[in-house]
Order: sequence, then C-alpha cells, then structure tokens
Amino acid sequence: MGGLRIQGIGVSEGIRMARAFVHRPHRHGANRTDVAERHRLRSDEVEAELAKLREAKNRCAAELDRLIQKAKAAVGEEQAGIMEGHRMLLDDPSFYPKMEARIREQLEPANLAVSAVFNQVAALFEGMNQPYMKERSADIRDVGGRLLACLLDPASSGELSGIDGQVILVADDLTPSDTVQLDPASVVGFITRTGGATSHTAILARSLGIAAVVGTGDGIDAISDGDLLILDGSAGICVSGPSEDEQTRYAGLMELEQERSRQLEQFKGRRAATADGTYVELAANIGSAAEAAAAVQSGADGAGLYRTEFLFLHADELPGEEEQYLAYLDAGKAFDGRPVIIRTMDIGGDKELPYLKLPKEANPFLGYRAIRIGLDRPELLRTQLRAILRASAGAKLKVMFPMISGLPEWRQAEQILMETQEELRSEGVPFDEEIEAGIMIEIPSAAIMASRLAKEVDFFSIGTNDLVQYTLAVDRMNEHVAGLYDYFHPAVLQLIANVIKASHASGKWTGMCGGMAGDPLATPLLLGLGLDEWSMEPARISRIKSVLSGLHRDRCEKLAEHVLSLSTAEEVRSALAEFTGSGSL
Ligand code: PEP
Ligand code: MG
Repeated sequence: MGGLRIQGIGVSEGIRMARAFVHRPHRHGANRTDVAERHRLRSDEVEAELAKLREAKNRCAAELDRLIQKAKAAVGEEQAGIMEGHRMLLDDPSFYPKMEARIREQLEPANLAVSAVFNQVAALFEGMNQPYMKERSADIRDVGGRLLACLLDPASSGELSGIDGQVILVADDLTPSDTVQLDPASVVGFITRTGGATSHTAILARSLGIAAVVGTGDGIDAISDGDLLILDGSAGICVSGPSEDEQTRYAGLMELEQERSRQLEQFKGRRAATADGTYVELAANIGSAAEAAAAVQSGADGAGLYRTEFLFLHADELPGEEEQYLAYLDAGKAFDGRPVIIRTMDIGGDKELPYLKLPKEANPFLGYRAIRIGLDRPELLRTQLRAILRASAGAKLKVMFPMISGLPEWRQAEQILMETQEELRSEGVPFDEEIEAGIMIEIPSAAIMASRLAKEVDFFSIGTNDLVQYTLAVDRMNEHVAGLYDYFHPAVLQLIANVIKASHASGKWTGMCGGMAGDPLATPLLLGLGLDEWSMEPARISRIKSVLSGLHRDRCEKLAEHVLSLSTAEEVRSALAEFTGSGSL
C-alpha cells in the first residue's frame, strides 16, 4: 500500500522528500479579530491607544525595511518589490487614517481597529472577479497580520523560525512576506491549502528554487508535523507517509532530475544548434528588467517577449514615459546587444488595472484588451512607444503589438508608431531608425490573413496561449475545459504552418513566444515547420537546446509534413512521441 496522495496545483518545479513542518501562523489578521478585546475605550485612554498604534506601525515599518533588504539580496529587486508594496500599504490612506478614526470616534481598541480595517479592504479585493486582484487580498491580510502582531506582541519578530534541518513546509497559506523569509537550504518545498499559480507566493517560490504545490484544499489536513512527505512540484502532488517502494521510486526520480540538470548545465554557455549544424535563435520571455538579467544567465539569445503589462500591474498609477524608458533600457542593456522584443501593454482579459477603470465585461478575453485599448486610447500607446523608441537608442530593441486581428489594426498601430518617430525626430531625440516592428499572431483571423500581413510587418511572433483558446473556443483560465486545451490540435498546427510559410514567402521571420515553444515534444515539429525563433521561460532554455542538438532539419521537415496530414491531436502526439523515442532525431 502506498502513502496518501494529495493533489494540488504544481507552481514550482522539483521533486523533494523531507519531513513535514506544519506552520500554524499566529499572526494573520483575519483570525486575530476573534481574540481582539471587544471592550470600548474610555475617552482618557484614546491618546495612549493612538500612541500604541503609532509605535506598532513604526516597528512594523522597520521590520518590513529589513525584509526588503533581505529580499533584495536573496531574490533580486523585482521580488523585493512585493515587500516594498507591503511597506507602501502601511502608509496607504485606505488604512492608517481609518484605524485612527475608529479609535478616536468609535473608541475601539487599536487591535480591533486594525483587524476591522484590514479585513474590510481584504474582503473588498476577495470579491473581485479578476484572479490577480483576488490574490492581492492575501497581501493586504499579510500586512494587517504583521501590524497586529507588532501591536499585540511587541517582543516577537513574527518571522518563520524554529525550522531545523531540511523540511517541507505545510501551511494553510503562505504570504509573500512569509515566503521571502524562507531559507531554500532548509525549506526545500512547501504545500499550501490555498493559492493560485499567479500569486506572488508562487512567483517567489520559483525565484528561490523551492518546489511548491498550492491549492490542495482539505487534503492538507491529513498531514501532521514530522510526517515524511514527497512533493512533486511539476505534477502538483504530495505523497504523505510514502511506502518503501514509493520512496525508492521518487529517490530515483530525484536522482534523474539532478542528473538531467547537471547535463543541461553544459548548454548554458552554448548557442543553440541542431545536429546538422544550423544555429537556432532561443530567446526568453521576461516580465521585468530584473528577469532579463536572470534570462541572460540561462543562456538566452535575447528576449522574444517582454510582457510590459507587468510594469503596469505592479504600479498604483500609470507608469510615465521616463519610468518606462528606464525599464526598457535596463532590459535591453542586460542583453548587451542581443535583441529584446518589447510588446506593448497587453492589459485586459485576466489582467485588470484599477486605475484605468476598464469596463466590466461578460467575456473579457473577447473584449477590450491589448491593442484594442491602445488604439482606443492612443495617448497610452504613444507614451509607451516614445519610451520604447528612446530606449532603442541605447539597446537593441524591437517593438511588437499584441492581439492584432487584421490589417486595419496593424495599420493604425503602425501609423501611431510612425507619428511618434516623427515627433522624436522633430525634437531631435535619438532612436533606432531601423527598429523592427512586428505583431503577435494569437487571433485566428490574423493567422489566416498572415500572407497579407507579412507584406507589411517586419516579423510575427506566434502566441499559442491565446491562439489555442481562440481557435478551439477553450478559455485558458477555466479548469473545467482544460482537457480540451491543446496546441497539438491539427487546426492549430495548420494555422502555425500557414503563418510561418506566409512570413517566409515575404522574406520575413516568425518566432513563437507561447507555451508551445518551451515544450520539448513540439521542438522537432516546429523546427520542421521552419520556425525561426523560440521564446520561452528561461528555465526551459537549456532543455530545448539539448533537444535541438539531437535534431536534423531534413528529418524534422519530413516529420512536419507527415504531422500536418494527421486528423487528431492524439495522432499528432503519438507521431511526435514515436519520432522522439525512435532515435530518428
Ligand atoms: C500568448 O498568448 O501565447 C502569449 C505569449 O501572450 P500572453 O500569454 O501574455 O497572453
Ligand atoms: Mg497572448
């Protein structure tokens, strides 16, 4: 008999075996309301209570400053930004003045006022539709809990401590500030009851190299302190109390994993090339300048996709031209002459910006999103294009428009680009006059019209994440139809083949920055179809380089021809598996 299998969502890769350390935090704001004293203050106690709150806030701020420094050293500027966000929340007018007012006007003790205010705002965020906003409620509760802990227990630092040796941390939830304190040498993995793949906690786990499974629901209740656990951060599985057989099997898998990453190390410093000597462009998808530096370390030839909307999502107001200019220049400089494709902001869909006051929509992925916003509010696009163009004077940049559905949108976007260039010229501001401008192919209509579009654009980049959802009518966020979401569906493959062929016929090139580009099973097919550039999560680059190093272009072309004649995704998968397994690489 095997151990108990607990299923969750795998958000940070890696297999780990260690004892459970069950973390029952004493500090989260939501729960502290129950223990808060519910008496009213006398009016002569108010000033002392306000002073207590002020003191707690100062302690809390100092604690966060220390954590920001620690985060900068451990995981870099970008992730430290999460803690900086917490620090800003402390001073946010939605919180502190309201707590003071409750103490003064409702004669509430400070602890009750803190709980009430943070819980109210967190509940507001929890009620929002967008996963990104929902997940911000965890940040708010985190700051509330920290402030409350400083208030109730001034002697305690509240940090995760007492962890000895290597453990897998088990918790209801881990806040970003909990996560950033984790020492990857002792906390080798974690499993939580709640959480989603887009949370900051998941982002931090990946940066720290801690394997992680989140969103297990009640399954986690079966784990007790000290239980032996196996955690598989790719499959999203945790085995509690594994049998001897399971331990041996997973130990073997861990060894394989280590061996594989040792072997892949050799590819980091090399250019990607096939067995018959063709160089292949392997680039990284990045979301910030800090990630650009990490991508260079992973051996990327450039960035095939800079998702600039993350710059907008992390801010409280629209980042201005100067801030954007510096971000794009920094990313470009990190790549030191290798190209960085800056995609204009892809807001909308699941990415909402409260300060843009976007309309509520029944089908946001089919609605006001990406270039549609840019063309409707050209002042936003102009500011971004000015920033990109100015940065192109100091780094090798290309510009790319998302969600283009056909020629008119491309022409309007190009017109704004040309007007912006003219404006800079007349101001005497330098930029790269040769800068390439391309589009994402992620809407089926654009894929079908590729031959017309190819005559006008400099390049295409295929976004399979959206192309699949729009071609197959499968919401990429909906777990109930996740089984239908498949980039090996022959309809998707026909579109991809059409796009690549159309670009070549006009002397242009095609890249791919959707998830399919990082799938080793797809690599021979994409090579055979003639894809010119691959762009993927930096962690996948070495693996794809190693697959490419065993491929021959002519054999892959034959494979592609055969695959395009197949009728179902299942047939495609087995043909690719057979090709990969048969040694006909
Ligand atoms: C895509 O759609 O494949 C893509 C790369 O863009 P995003 O995932 O940001 O929508
Ligand atoms: Mg997309």
